[in-house]
This record gives sequence, structure tokens and C-alpha cells, in this order.
Amino acid sequence: MEEFRAPKGTRDVLPPESARWERLVALFAARVERAGFGLVLSPLFEDVGVFTRVGEGTDVVRKEMYDFADKDGRPLALRPEGTAPVVRAYVQHRPPLPFKAWYAAPNFRYERPQAGRYRQHHQLGVEALGTDDPDLDAEVVALAWSVARDLGLARVDLVLNSLGDDACRPAYLDALRAHLAARVDQLCDEHRATAAAHPLRVLDCKRPECVSATGDAPRTVDHLCADCAGHFDRVGRGLAALGVPWRLDPRLVRGLDYYTRTTFELKASALESAQNGIGGGGRYDNLAEALGGPPTPGIGFGMGVERLLLACDAEGAFAGPGGAVDVWVVDTTGGSAAMALAAELREAGVGADRSFGGRSMKAQFKAADRSGARLALVVGDREASEGTVTVRDMRTGDQEVVARDLVVDVVGMRL
Ligand SMILES: [Zn+2]
Ligand SMILES: [Zn+2]
Repeated sequence: MEEFRAPKGTRDVLPPESARWERLVALFAARVERAGFGLVLSPLFEDVGVFTRVGEGTDVVRKEMYDFADKDGRPLALRPEGTAPVVRAYVQHRPPLPFKAWYAAPNFRYERPQAGRYRQHHQLGVEALGTDDPDLDAEVVALAWSVARDLGLARVDLVLNSLGDDACRPAYLDALRAHLAARVDQLCDEHRATAAAHPLRVLDCKRPECVSATGDAPRTVDHLCADCAGHFDRVGRGLAALGVPWRLDPRLVRGLDYYTRTTFELKASALESAQNGIGGGGRYDNLAEALGGPPTPGIGFGMGVERLLLACDAEGAFAGPGGAVDVWVVDTTGGSAAMALAAELREAGVGADRSFGGRSMKAQFKAADRSGARLALVVGDREASEGTVTVRDMRTGDQEVVARDLVVDVVGMRL
């Protein structure tokens, strides 16, 4: 029989690695919930228009989206990113503002798989809708920074840019288009054709032709209107007040079209530059309107779980938890003593497991070792007849014999 494998660009996450994922999500949830964000669960697929309306010029939407018609012919797409679904949910339900949401969900992109980049990748993110106060920008950027710090990442660079708004961006785009038109022959094949329609995408291009042709391109920050310049200045001062170090990256435009004003990215310098983006986001003051809602400013960020863990590996940070359970019950008297003892321990809040199938003492100790449990509780013929349990420290090998009635309390004190 043919053996099935996970589809190209996807992978399974099994224990013990999955325990590290759980801890990462829990750490993220705790951090953002302390800042007033609440969990939002939205469908993994949406009307394809939720994405095409806001990202026509982007690779994410044009080339990489998993779009399909369902059995009734409805045009749908698996979510390629996390922001538009949350904003769509906001537009639909109109919760009170400010609306501060967080999510943990997979995104789907049909792209070439590489290290830390999968066709199904997992994202943690927040979105805050309802105010354009630059203090919120500073808080949201600082939140992403804090998550990286919570993980123990030390080598993270924070870069910011401002993309302006409807008042100042058209003039900037004209200046950028003029710059690119004079260098159109130097651009990569793709952008030679699309630079006039989507000039910002050229700044995002990593191919050497486009990088060198835009080395002296006009910078958004030099073309901001007074409102946008004042906003960006307050964001920078807010971050300074929060003790978050950052630097300007005038090329930072991000891969989606809906961003306005503040945009930012976190880069792990322990990773190679092609894959060092561990998170990023920005302000999207026109997105709610583009999705049919009332004009509602917003800002958010997303962080890739796979990339974050790669960065942790590269820095030796955020090690996985030890064993799945703290206690392994070894029972050579048939198994019913192990079942009762494990149940009692679990009721008392202690992680406990055991072997099945009446295996030998040696095999059960081998399983205890492999589990990473700190203590083994042994019930053999002698213990069974005496009404005792032998408590063995798996690291030191020290043993003590404890009355059966007291063993759960003793374990509680030892752990
Ligand atoms: Zn290019
Ligand atoms: Zn402006």
C-alpha cells in the first residue's frame, strides 16, 4: 500500500516539539491579554474578496493564495494572512471600540517551501481598531518586542518606517514612479512590467537588480505631510519612553497594500537575512472601509511561530519543557495498582503516566527514563504486601519507601 505523507510545504508537529508550541502560544496569550487584547476565532477560509480587495498588487494575493470554489460555486480562499479576517469580523459584528483582538491561527500560502516557511504556517497576532492615537502604535510595537524578549531572544532588531496616508502618499508614489521609470531597464524581470502600477512592491523586492536600482530611491519619510510626520515622531518618542530600541528602515514597505503610516518589522540577527523576519505589522487606517465598514483606524502585528522557534534555536533560547509528566508509575503486580495511583496523582494535579501490557520491571523503567519523569513510583510484590510504594528519584537514583496512603503527599512535596 502506498504510504501517505503530509502535503508538500506542510509538516506535522509532534511531542515533545508541540509542547514548546503550546508554551509559546501560552506566553503570547498571557503577554497580550495583560495589555487588554481578547482572543478572536475566525474561519480558516473567507470570501476570496476579503483578500483580493485589499491586496490586488501583492504576491500574497496574486500568486500565493489557496483560492477555490466550494461545491456551490462560492469563491473562497484559505486565509493567507491574519489581519483581513479580524477586520472583516469587526465590520460584521461592530464590537465596541477600541476593539483589541488577538489570534493564533494557520495561514496558507502557495509558495516555495524553505527554512521556516511553510505552505501552512502558524501566526500569532494582535489587531487594535478604533483609534489613530500614536501612543497605541508605540504600545503595539512594544508588545511585539516584549514577546521576543519573553522568549529570551537577545539578538532582535526592530525597524520602523512610515508609509504616509492618503494625503501625502500619492505625491510620494509619483516621485518613486519617476525614479523607477528612469531605471526601468535595471529592474528585475517581474518589476520591469509592474513597477508603474505597484511601485512600492519594488522596494520590497529582494532581487539584487531591484535592490541596487532603488538604493537612492525617494524615501517615504521625506515625503510625509505634517500630520503623518507628527504621528511618526510621537511613535518614536513613545518607543523611547518605553525603552524599546529601534531604527528607521526607509525601504520597509511590507508585503501587503493596505498599510498606512507606521509599519514595522522584527528581525532576528541570529538567522540568515532571507529568513530573519520573525514578525511585523503596521497601521491600516483604510482597511475597515475597504471591507465595507465605517472608516476605522487600526494597527496590528503578526509573528510566525516557525520563525520564532528557529530564532530561539539559533540563540539557544526558550528550550522545550522537560518531560511530559513528572511521575512514572512502575507496577509489576498486574497494573491495577498503577492505574489507581496514576488516577490519584492526576486528581491531585500531578502529571503521571505508566506502562501498559504487563511489561517487565526493566522495560517499565526504560519507559520511565524516556518519559523524562523526575520520579518513579514502584509497586512490586513487596510493596503491595506491605502497603507501601518505593519513590525513586530518576536523576540521583535515591529511593525511599513510603506508606501508600501518604505517597501522593510525598510526591507533592518532592516536585
Ligand atoms: Zn524586483
Ligand atoms: Zn500624510
